[in-house]
Amino acid sequence: MAISPTSISRHLASRPARVRHLEWLRGRRYRLAQLTRPLMEGGPESLPVVIAHHRRDSSAAERLALALESDWHSVPARCRQAYENVLGCAPAIIIVDLRRTNRCGCLGHRHPWVREGPFSEPHESLGGRPAGELDIAWQRVEAWPALPLEETALDARFFEGSRQDEFRARQFRLRMLSVFLHETNHLSFPHEPEDSVRERSLSFYRESLQAYVEETCATLSFTIDRSFSRME
Ligand SMILES: [Zn+2]
Repeated sequence: MAISPTSISRHLASRPARVRHLEWLRGRRYRLAQLTRPLMEGGPESLPVVIAHHRRDSSAAERLALALESDWHSVPARCRQAYENVLGCAPAIIIVDLRRTNRCGCLGHRHPWVREGPFSEPHESLGGRPAGELDIAWQRVEAWPALPLEETALDARFFEGSRQDEFRARQFRLRMLSVFLHETNHLSFPHEPEDSVRERSLSFYRESLQAYVEETCATLSFTIDRSFSRME
């Protein structure tokens, strides 16, 4: 059975007040989110995600939550289907340790064990199953030259202004989503070779970004056509 955000909130609140107070002072915050698994046997189930972050990174945590809960639904179905097995074999809860950067320069890692205090051991209130943990360095993801040529070409289609800001915001969230899926892939299948894991996450990113651009440009030209016809 899926673990609800409510049971995670209850679990976090059930810890001693002193522990929670110290955590608050340290600036540690938890943003709860969910990723809906593709339709599988028994219907859609959601994968609970806890975004652990420092107070000063709250806006990046919000953007990751938006990527998981909203952008995930807007990508082509085949992109979600490519992760059906990965999500089906994922741990019961995923903890994301959201950072600004990583000294090694990596975008993210899979953690061999859970380090985040409240989730480091399985809890009865959380279904008694172990959680999985990964980290994402969001500033690295933002500066990542993922698909240098293709992205510059796509970017140019929006020129300057608000459309371009919108494009860059979506581009960042789709990158975060693809890094999240990449590391979750490592958690689900620790022995799958890096090449094949990378190929899956880069294809996800490429196809979902292209689909977004196609869709946006189609609406744009539709708007232009209409204004032309009004001038006639
Ligand atoms: Zn990897």
